Amino acid sequence: KLSSETKFDHVFRSKLPDIPISNHLPLHTYCYEKLSSFPDKPCLISGSSGKTYTFSETHLIAQKTAAGLSNLGIKKGDVIMILLQNCAEFVFSFMGASMIGAVSTTANPFYTSAEIFKQFKAARAKLIITQSQYVDKLKDTNNNNNGENFPKIGEDFKVITIDDPPENCLHFTVLSEANENEIPEVSIDPDDPVALPFSSGTTGLPKGVVLTHRSLITSVAQQVDGENPNLYLKDDDVVLCVLPMFHIYSLNSVLLCSLRAGAAVLLMQKFEIGTLLELIQRHKVSVAAVVPPLVLALAKNPMVAQFDLSSIRVVLSGAAPLGKELEEALRGRVPQAVLGQGYGMTEAGPVLSMCLGFAKQPFPTKSGSCGTVVRNAELKVIDPETGCSLGYNQPGEICIRGSQIMKGYLNDDAATAATIDVEGWLHTGDIGYVDEDDEIFIVDRVKEIIKFKGFQVPPAELESLLVSHPSIADAAVVPQKDEAAGEVPVAFVVRSNGFELTEEAVKDFIAKQVVFYKRLHKVHFVHAIPKSPSGKILRKDLRAKLAAPTTLP
Ligand code: AMP
Repeated sequence: KLSSETKFDHVFRSKLPDIPISNHLPLHTYCYEKLSSFPDKPCLISGSSGKTYTFSETHLIAQKTAAGLSNLGIKKGDVIMILLQNCAEFVFSFMGASMIGAVSTTANPFYTSAEIFKQFKAARAKLIITQSQYVDKLKDTNNNNNGENFPKIGEDFKVITIDDPPENCLHFTVLSEANENEIPEVSIDPDDPVALPFSSGTTGLPKGVVLTHRSLITSVAQQVDGENPNLYLKDDDVVLCVLPMFHIYSLNSVLLCSLRAGAAVLLMQKFEIGTLLELIQRHKVSVAAVVPPLVLALAKNPMVAQFDLSSIRVVLSGAAPLGKELEEALRGRVPQAVLGQGYGMTEAGPVLSMCLGFAKQPFPTKSGSCGTVVRNAELKVIDPETGCSLGYNQPGEICIRGSQIMKGYLNDDAATAATIDVEGWLHTGDIGYVDEDDEIFIVDRVKEIIKFKGFQVPPAELESLLVSHPSIADAAVVPQKDEAAGEVPVAFVVRSNGFELTEEAVKDFIAKQVVFYKRLHKVHFVHAIPKSPSGKILRKDLRAKLAAPTTLP
């Protein structure tokens, strides 16, 4: 299906010219390349404590962390897991790992023990950096890992906490106070991995997404390098970092882009509207990277009127579709700001398109558009049935090609081949079109993934948990539209013969095993799950049933 005949491909390009990109460098060298231009400028500001690290301090502590990781036996190619909310130590760990050629897999600290274990195991992580409150989750997993469990902390893997370490754990100072002169010499190839976020992609369970030094440098450069009078980030910006850095959107478009551009990053651990508004006002935030639920809060919450938000020059929304009405409502709240969407996918490095230069001139973007394709990349829209590329205003599956996309899925050649075709095009599973001004509009999704407030909810993961229940014979999970969350997961469940099972029991069964945003919002009991002759769940049919509730049993 993916080896399309591309002789007459209609390829869309950026309106900006391509630029030379230093993607032969390792990521940390590239990010800190302009350090000498702004060594004493604030780089990381803690929203809760106000503690500020300058660019040179951040660089030095990252170097110490690199030496510390090496002292603990971490070598080139080894994987460390960063299980942290947004904080300075997240940055030191990620950049420090890069400096010794190690790879960071980032995970949500709110995950259940079982969810963390799956990623830890698949990534073959050697060490976890976390907070003491999460350490208990690294000891036991509930019974859905086929009896498998974490190895022993301190013996088989190391755990480092950024606060008081529980028994057998180490304090982060073993890293941050190491001698920076002890960083081992390592030669890093541009195609070596540096980040390993997990994503379920277009189908199935979460998989490790191998992002190399080359991919992340290319992606950052596409956003903040080169001649462009209206850059998304500049060195006098203060950038809001409230989205979790364990997701590649925040890690790349907020953190790495700011390090490169010399902008200050205001770190917030969690979203609370009053605190957010107060911090925007106090630190004169100029760039706010957000997701649609945050736009909703900024557009609708009455508290907004009590704060001065005049410092905001750019609001970038991504990770899920942003409705036109919401965009317009926000416009009223921050009239001076340029609002725009970015369209990303973890596997794409992640940014495919952005509102160019975030200015009304020279490239205006329409409401609802995700901007134009980033430079040094190619985008095409294909007919999902025939694979043929389509022209302007014709909806089809969006495909992207360029050095920024992932190298592939970790240890999963089949999934990689199903996503990146032989010509190097990454198939996104998103349906969209490009209008006559080269602007991209996303209109639908052909892949399984459900997006709750921008977070991934992989249906296959919930389905495999559901069918592990002794009273469930078969199950399917699909998205239902929801005003606050965008989408919520709902299940269709077939009871095993003769078994009683209530909706509450099914919901509880899942809730115990997954992070809050993967919880089921509704369970419909059915006699059979509709499937294609090859056994594929006909998700479209189930989604259609939800759209017309009267047809539900
Ligand atoms: P993730 O890998 O978690 O970043 O999820 C990527 C998916 O989120 C994309 O393939 C889209 O389905 C969706 N997505 C991201 N940004 C947008 C956007 N601006 N508009 C619509 N959907 C989006």
